[in-house]
Amino acid sequence: PEQRIVFSLLPQASRLKNVRYDIRGPVLRRAQELESAGHRILKLNLGNPAPWGLNTPEPIVRDMMQNIDAAQGYSDARGIHSARLAVAQYYQERGVRDVGPDDVFLGNGVSELIVMSMQALLNPGDEVLIPSPDYPLWTGAVNLCGGRAMHYRCEESAGWAPDLEHLASLITDRTRALVIINPNNPTGAVYSEETLLGLLDIARRHQLLVLCDEIYEKIIYDGAVHHHAAVLAPDLLILTMGGLSKTYRAAGFRSGWLVVTGPAVGAEEYLEGLQLLANMRLCPNVPAQFAIQTALGGYQSITSLVRPGGRLHDQRESAWSKLTDIPGVECTKPDGALYLFARLDPAVHKIRDDQQLVIDLLNQQHLLLSHGTGFNFPTPDHLRLVFLAPTDVMDDAIGRLGRFLETYRQ
Ligand code: PLP
Repeated sequence: PEQRIVFSLLPQASRLKNVRYDIRGPVLRRAQELESAGHRILKLNLGNPAPWGLNTPEPIVRDMMQNIDAAQGYSDARGIHSARLAVAQYYQERGVRDVGPDDVFLGNGVSELIVMSMQALLNPGDEVLIPSPDYPLWTGAVNLCGGRAMHYRCEESAGWAPDLEHLASLITDRTRALVIINPNNPTGAVYSEETLLGLLDIARRHQLLVLCDEIYEKIIYDGAVHHHAAVLAPDLLILTMGGLSKTYRAAGFRSGWLVVTGPAVGAEEYLEGLQLLANMRLCPNVPAQFAIQTALGGYQSITSLVRPGGRLHDQRESAWSKLTDIPGVECTKPDGALYLFARLDPAVHKIRDDQQLVIDLLNQQHLLLSHGTGFNFPTPDHLRLVFLAPTDVMDDAIGRLGRFLETYRQ
């Protein structure tokens, strides 16, 4: 008879106990159950452009294919030189000083680099300032590494700008770093120069490492201007992150970068730690590294999607106006990124648990959205919709949401 090992107890590592990634948790499992039962689910929960026909530009795909033979072996642990040089030159052209290929680490998406940046930094109990709401991997990565995520408020009534006073009040002698997500996911806020200078000044006064997630830097609308923290504060040690997933619609290729700028004096050990972690993962996915130079140096097709008449611009415009026509739904129009972060007025809707609300919406209307608390937002009264789908699909989704919310009134 077959011998099987039966584990009396195989507990999860205790370091995972505080780690949450709810936007891919129970809600997604329920969606999968419904799909297995034969239902078609309209999914507006992920910032994944390809399923909506927003494909990777053809020259990028071609370049990867042409280089596939050269991409069979491991590369340098930080990434191939030509791609790191292209990233460094890109930031030089945008006004970042003193940056070269040796300041660049490539990664399997920004996700890997977020986790590495925290693994190299945190001891148990160290604190990191993170916006609320946030892209939840930032909080998850801090918790995974034994740190504490200290969430600074972003003010909906101020276009989701960070509340600098609240942020400053969270600083203790354990604070190690400040995370800035600009443009922000989920709010779509693009920070003004003044706001950024305020954030950077706090980092300067408290000697904090600055981590700046700029993955949506080119997805901005209606004349909004994106500023690089690394340009505004050349005197601070800043890790800027960007990648191919959104701007170049290549999320599946898993390709991102981290650029170290500013004075490294005193941070040598931390940077050696990053190098150690880069060595331990051997190297990032090599074929996708060959796409970076073409992506950064070629025609920036994203600009035609975000200007008036472009798909992303027009989908955002139409979805925002229809969404805010629903009684009891408010939404600050996003200046950047791919999301509408809508508020459900608690005077109109009865919500105790926003995750349950999203599951009820899924069950009733077969529409999948994300709940606000999944982005570490404190109150259960927000939903995030992705506006990547064509306008007729967005109209259908918002119609379903409106009908559902009629059943969720006070
Ligand atoms: N940072 C932000 C703000 C994001 O929204 C995302 C993905 O949605 C990521 C990072 C992860 O991107 P990547 O595909 O490069 O891992």
